[in-house]
Amino acid sequence: MANWIPRAASLQPDEPCALCGSQSKRQLSHLIPKFVFQHASVRSPTGYLRTNVSPNRRSQDGPKEYLLCRPCEQRLSRWENRFSAVFKRHHEEPGQTFNYTDEHALCALSIVWRVLAHQRAHPELQHLTFGRDYGRTDDAYSAWAEVLLGNREHPGDFRLNWLWFDYVTNGPPDLNRYLFHCCDFDVWASEKRSFSVVHLPGVFIIGTLEAGRRSEIRGFDVSFKGGRYMGHGNKAAPPWLQSYIEQKMAARRAAIDGLSPAQQAKIAQTVLADPKKALESPLFRATKYDMAANPNFRL
Ligand SMILES: [Zn+2]
Repeated sequence: MANWIPRAASLQPDEPCALCGSQSKRQLSHLIPKFVFQHASVRSPTGYLRTNVSPNRRSQDGPKEYLLCRPCEQRLSRWENRFSAVFKRHHEEPGQTFNYTDEHALCALSIVWRVLAHQRAHPELQHLTFGRDYGRTDDAYSAWAEVLLGNREHPGDFRLNWLWFDYVTNGPPDLNRYLFHCCDFDVWASEKRSFSVVHLPGVFIIGTLEAGRRSEIRGFDVSFKGGRYMGHGNKAAPPWLQSYIEQKMAARRAAIDGLSPAQQAKIAQTVLADPKKALESPLFRATKYDMAANPNFRL
């Protein structure tokens, strides 16, 4: 195991690369790949993706930090190109079975690693469970880095899962709009277990941060040799994920309620200016599923 890995990744541009430790200057790295925001921007009726963080600010390419040297950035960017094609296809037609390669798996792992590096670098945020001490995540952080650097083939106990969602017809009224049109990330932790969780529109990527327990997530394992993701079949998502989703949805509703009247008017105006584009958008489709599933639906 490389011994240079810092306890908390610093975010200074002059620090060694947070992944490979090289001394070359850090680049400003996207935590969530840019294609997620570009695609969502193109396809949403208002032309932009909104995040929970600052609902009045339309985010065009997502949060960035000084994390990686240029060669590491380039390696991640190659994986992102592969991943973006699968992501876009799934966004257009959810619920499909598809094949994936080691590069798709590595891209997904790199995203949960970036989120963990980001959280570790901000101890001032005082995590609900960890406080300022992310020591419990050291082993996962190192194991993932070794896989990303090509020094080991598989993250072992610090396994990776992904859930590519289909439209849900038995959930809360705004579930599909949350699943397919929001993007958030977090380190989720209880006293005993923790996960790095990334929600891209339509897909959840979950990295296990603590070794020694059997996976509660069945049917969503990511193989680093590549494999086939089954759109349907015998799968079980963990109960904590449901409460995670409920909490995030509550935050989203609060954020929407807090939109300024000027912003609300602007959204209505954009939709009215090009109703055809709005009707063809995946957001409209998700809304349609939400309406069909809930007779008492209201916008
Ligand atoms: Zn590097």
